[in-house]
Amino acid sequence: MSNTALFPGSFDPITVGHVDIITRSINLFDKIIVGVGINTTKETMFSVETRVEWIRNAFPGNNKIEVKSYSGLTVDFAKQCGANFILRGLRTSTDFQFEKAIAQMNLYLDAKIETVFILSSAQYSPVSSTIVRDIIKHNGDVSMFVPSSVKF
Ligand code: ADP
Repeated sequence: MSNTALFPGSFDPITVGHVDIITRSINLFDKIIVGVGINTTKETMFSVETRVEWIRNAFPGNNKIEVKSYSGLTVDFAKQCGANFILRGLRTSTDFQFEKAIAQMNLYLDAKIETVFILSSAQYSPVSSTIVRDIIKHNGDVSMFVPSSVKF
């Protein structure tokens, strides 16, 4: 059986923390599908098309990584993609509390899809898309927090 992981998130924008999780997880799976969630109630800084393009361009020529956008329940999208794992990153105990509830609820929704957590590398644990957006808003330099594919 082939193992496919869905890595869902907002990726608004993708950061070096996300890249680190994908890069370190790639040997665990046959394929990783990065799922850019479309949430109509959550306003994003960058369009879904832009977010998808920046992720694709961060992994050029890597045929084990696919990038897709989706709306609706993550477990439904995972099923639709043939993913048997959901991949998430953990930075802090706050991430853990939040992720634990989502993962346990997802297990109720589909017991065949297991969530796998990868701890962030120490140097990337303070990096978040939220703080990156804040720096961008105030014209700061975010080049060390995002892959070079992120251009605006
Ligand atoms: P969401 O809105 O679903 O939290 P994000 O794009 O913020 O989407 O995050 C997607 C996933 O990446 C989450 O599991 C999050 O914990 C993880 N993540 C975000 N930043 C980092 C980081 N710096 N190191 C490790 N994991 C991270």
